[in-house]
Formats: sequence, C-alpha cells, structure tokens
Amino acid sequence: MIEINGKSVYNSLCMGKLHFYGRDKKTIKRVKIENPREEILRFQNARAAAKTELRELYEKALRQVGEDNAQIFQIHIMMLDDEDYFGAITSMINNMSVNAEYAVSYTSDIFAKNFREMDDEYMQARASDVCDISDRLIKLLSDSKDADEITEPSIIIAGDLTPSETVQMDKDKILGFVTFQGSQTSHTAILARTMNIPAVINTGEISAEHHGKMAILDGFSGTLYIDPDELKIEDYKRRKALEDERSTLLAELKGKPTETRSGKKVNLYANIGSPRDLASALQNDAEGIGLFRSEFLYLEAKDFPSEDEQFAKYKEVAEGMCGKKVIVRTMDIGADKKIGYFNLPHEENPALGYRAIRICLTDTKIFKTQLRALLRASAFGNISIMFPMITSLCEVTQIKSLVEEIKRELQQDGIPFKKDIELGIMIETPAAAIISDLLAPEVDFFSIGTNDLTQYTLAVDRQNSALEPFVDVKHPAILRLIETVIQNAHKHGKWAGICGELAADLSAAEAFVNMGADELSVSPAFVLKVREKIREID
Ligand code: PEP
Ligand code: MG
Repeated sequence: MIEINGKSVYNSLCMGKLHFYGRDKKTIKRVKIENPREEILRFQNARAAAKTELRELYEKALRQVGEDNAQIFQIHIMMLDDEDYFGAITSMINNMSVNAEYAVSYTSDIFAKNFREMDDEYMQARASDVCDISDRLIKLLSDSKDADEITEPSIIIAGDLTPSETVQMDKDKILGFVTFQGSQTSHTAILARTMNIPAVINTGEISAEHHGKMAILDGFSGTLYIDPDELKIEDYKRRKALEDERSTLLAELKGKPTETRSGKKVNLYANIGSPRDLASALQNDAEGIGLFRSEFLYLEAKDFPSEDEQFAKYKEVAEGMCGKKVIVRTMDIGADKKIGYFNLPHEENPALGYRAIRICLTDTKIFKTQLRALLRASAFGNISIMFPMITSLCEVTQIKSLVEEIKRELQQDGIPFKKDIELGIMIETPAAAIISDLLAPEVDFFSIGTNDLTQYTLAVDRQNSALEPFVDVKHPAILRLIETVIQNAHKHGKWAGICGELAADLSAAEAFVNMGADELSVSPAFVLKVREKIREID
C-alpha cells in the first residue's frame, strides 16, 4: 500500500480505480504501434483538423482584434507545415513504431528547447508556439481515440485541472479528485464541493504508472492510499457507513427553517454552475440559488452560446426552482477561466486583467446577448441578475443603462420579462468593499465573493498553491471588509449575502450571521451542514 498526503478541500471518502487525466504531457504514454503507416495517416488527419481550427481562429481574430493580433494563427499554420517539424514526427513514428501523441510530444520538447536556446528573442518566443501547436495536435489525436475517456467511475488524478477541462468530464464517472497542485478556491475544489465528492490537492507529482490501480481517497485526512491493504479497506467500509449515517441525520433538517435560536432567519441558498446541479441543490433543500456561475455555459460550448441557448438554460433553472430566488451571475470569463473562442490576449497577470465585467463592458455585444436571455427567462421564475468583479460606481452606471436599453428593446418587441428584476453586484474586490456605501444606493443587493476578495486583499493568487501558507481566509482585514459591506448595505435598506467558499466554513458562517448577513450561499453539499450550524446559534 502506498500512502500519499496532500491537502483536503472536501471531507468525504471514496474508493475506486485511479484515472490519470492525460492532459499533462508527462503522462503521455509511449505505446508501441503495429502499423506506422496507419499511425502517420492518423497524425496527418489531426494536422489537417488543426489547420482547419487555426484558420477559423484566424478569421475570428481578424474580425475581433485585427490583422496584427490574428497573425499568430497564420504562424501556427505555417509551423504545422514546417518540413523539419513534420519530418521529425513522421520519421519517429516510422522508425521507432511509436504512437503519434508520443512522437508529437517528444518532438515538441526538442524543438521548444532548441528555440529557447537561440540568441534571437523572436526565435526564443517561438518555443511557446511549438508547444501550442503540439498541444493542439495531441488534443485532437487524443480525442480521436478518446484517450481521456473515463470509462468507469474513477478517482481523477491530474497536475491541475482548468475549469474547461472539468466541465467536459462525465460527472457520473468521477468519484474524487486528486491534483498535484491546486488551491482551496480553485474551480476543481469548488466542483468537488458541488458534487459532494472528496478532493485532495497539493500532493506533489504522482507517477502515472499507478493508472488503473485501486485506491481509497480520504478527504478527511487528505490522504490517497494506492493498493490499500485489507485492514484499510475494512476501515474505509466502516467509516463510509458512518458517513452515510451522518447524511441521513442531516437529511432530517430538510424542510426545517434556517434560523438561529433567537429566531433570526437567514436565507440559505446554493451555488451552481449549470442546470445539471439543480438536482443536487434541491436534494439538499437549498432555499434558492445564490450564485449561478453562468460562465460554465460558455465553458461547455464550442462557440459563443446564442441568446436562445442561454435563455433555455436560465429558464430551466428558474422553473426548476419553482418561484424560489435564482441569482444568475453574468459570465465571469478571464483569469483561470479562459476560452479559446474568446481569443483573449495573453496577459502577464490574468487575475488582475481582462476579466468578467471588464469584458462585458468592452464587448457589449456578448453582454447584451446574455442580458436579453436573462431578462426573457425572468418571466418564468424569480431571477435576479448579479455582476462580478465590480470596482467602481461608473461600472454600475454603465451596466444599469445597458439593462435599461435591453428592457426597452424587449418592451418594444412585446417580449415579457420581470420589470422590477433585482440587480445586484458581487463584492469581491477591496475597492468595491471600501466604496460599498456609495454602491449600495445603486443596486438591490450585495453578494460577497470571499474567494476573490481574499485573493485581492491579501495579494495571494488563488491559483498558486505555493502561497497556501500565506492564505488566511479569516484574516482580520477580510472580516472587517465583510462587516463594513453588510453594514453599508443595511444603512441603505439593501440586503447582503456571502457566496464565496468561506460561507460554508461553519465558524465563519456563524460569524457572518452575527455580523448580520441576510443570506449565505454555499455548495449544495454544505446546505444542510450550514443549516444545522445556524440553528445552533443563540
Ligand atoms: C468568489 O470570488 O468568492 C466567487 C464566489 O466567485 P468565483 O469563485 O466564481 O470567482
Ligand atoms: Mg469571484
């Protein structure tokens, strides 16, 4: 039995086979192939598909960001045709009978190294282009034979997982997550909490030779046991039975009010990322949806989701919640949530970059499509709209005027919508928290995003696991900001809630209720635990 320790981000247990998510180049396996000619054909098909993708990207970039910026895709097409690169891959497949993925990955490493060692700065920069085209090829090659298809319920292991990777996984086949890196508020961690499955991060690299082996993931202690012995399996079964018993006890809180012993009512909502999570929110008796991360609709799509596509999803959630509040946050793309078809520019500091409302207020066409879909869906339930990453009053003014414009359009077209739809903002930057007294009169509610508020207040990149020792999620600076925000909301007769991960921390939840928070929105799996806690508060 091998024991590997990391940091737990969700307390639960599971047992199953290990699946190494093969995105990481290091896990690309060398496979001996029987027919090099067929393998070369497979590679050539992937190369043709890559070129088609790149041509489409070029056209789109040309329209959106102009010739200069679009040029990079032409360069990539040329690189795919490069005799040396192409020749090195095909002769490797031919002479060594290796699979195309391995040949591409190996050649990419050599070429990238050569470029990096050149004197010329322009040539040095080509290293990342080689990696980029090689990743594209590997992805296409892998898709064609479903290298990453999770065939049975498994514990997923990866270096780290981006939101777009996690959204593409078949959720029914995921028992738990293990990542070599990662952080408490990374989206893998958030997904694990939504799905109610164990997740352990920061384990350091684990050898892919364990792929397919049986393992137990203990999200309580943050330990992965590979090839567990009989004793460990017995212990697992006993604890799993206890965990199930605890869930049954918590289930008794369903239907009970979320209020303190003194009778203070708190709205206890759930965070979701797609209509698929609705079942989990309802099962756990959430009183509403406090944060629907709408960007996941974009992450799941191959191109910008149309107004009708979005409308259908928002309507499904609104109707599914049967009149209970559904707060949809407009898309928060950027930072760690990058999407190819957005063609976002490369940034040195993406978390401090072109993200969320900044994209929406720049590219208003994307924003207006989403607003129209949301307003149309508001006729079918109790939808509120919330805007992320606010830093100034002027952003709120611009948003409100765009919302008014869409309302006028719908009115003219005779399309029904909720006239008095609630508009709120996320308070997740120190700037917004500090000027919350000025923002409060302009909006209907605040929802405090502690994940980003922590990142920006403590200057700790939420994606950087090396900074974990410096992250104090209950730092007095953050608690003071939260208290100020709640007070400022109340002074202006508005409500304030908390939708960041900290709302599910039971002692923090108690502190927030004592500060006067009107709402807490947590991952579905935490709803009943938080209700239990609130009902114990005097
Ligand atoms: C937050 O920042 O706390 C939040 C809820 O938003 P996200 O985690 O999606 O950035
Ligand atoms: Mg945020």
